[in-house]
Amino acid sequence: MKECKFCGEKFESGKDLHLHWEEKHEDELNSHQKEKTKKAKREKEQKEEINRSRRRNLLLKGLTGVTLIIFVALVLPQVMSMFQSSPFELYRQPMLGDENASVTVVEFGDYQCPHCKTFDSEIKPKLKNEYIDSGDVKFYYINLPVIDETSGLAARAGEYIWENDRDNFWDFHSKLYGTETRLNQGIIVNTATETTNLTAEEIREGLDSQSTANELQADQRIANGNGVTSTPTVYVNGQQVGNDYQSIKTAIENNLKNGN
Ligand code: CA
Repeated sequence: MKECKFCGEKFESGKDLHLHWEEKHEDELNSHQKEKTKKAKREKEQKEEINRSRRRNLLLKGLTGVTLIIFVALVLPQVMSMFQSSPFELYRQPMLGDENASVTVVEFGDYQCPHCKTFDSEIKPKLKNEYIDSGDVKFYYINLPVIDETSGLAARAGEYIWENDRDNFWDFHSKLYGTETRLNQGIIVNTATETTNLTAEEIREGLDSQSTANELQADQRIANGNGVTSTPTVYVNGQQVGNDYQSIKTAIENNLKNGN
């Protein structure tokens, strides 16, 4: 125990005594004693600062934990649902409709496939009238040329037109699907020049270009990644559905009802 020589009060440590001197007997101290009080005061302030810093760190850690909990509870499900409703990389794919539409319909098609022709002449117009024009549905087309090399050429033409004359893509798309004879390169190029602002030379170059080849490969990767091997295959908000109108309509209605 340390005893104060000025008032007789007892303290457990020299530091406590010196702090007491600083508080109660400042005017009675000599220079040596004043040094001791200054040192004790400095040490006390340092200790307090360390404690404050510890409390700040604890608070920050707490906040980080809370932020993580909020992220997991609120944000993560939304991020997951975005991936669930759009499992495909769609941003480079031809799109029809309002990009803010809540329901996404995706068709994998081959320009030579008879059922895809029916899809384009009968089902797509109904979807357009009922859901796409109203802004409820956006429609994407992904190439999956499964029949022969001409299917691949037609797909490449589509890729080139989407890249270079986007506004006229859907006219080209439907006119090519409406072709009654068997497709060949001449018909594909003619259909493209009739429906777009591109020249035959540009289209032919486009058919051979690396960029259209890359786009077509990207489409095939999407199909392979999702196990899609036949056309037309249809997805509604990430779920594969039957390729008949009623199946697609039911899936769209369910998604709209659920607020998706
Ligand atoms: Ca594509």
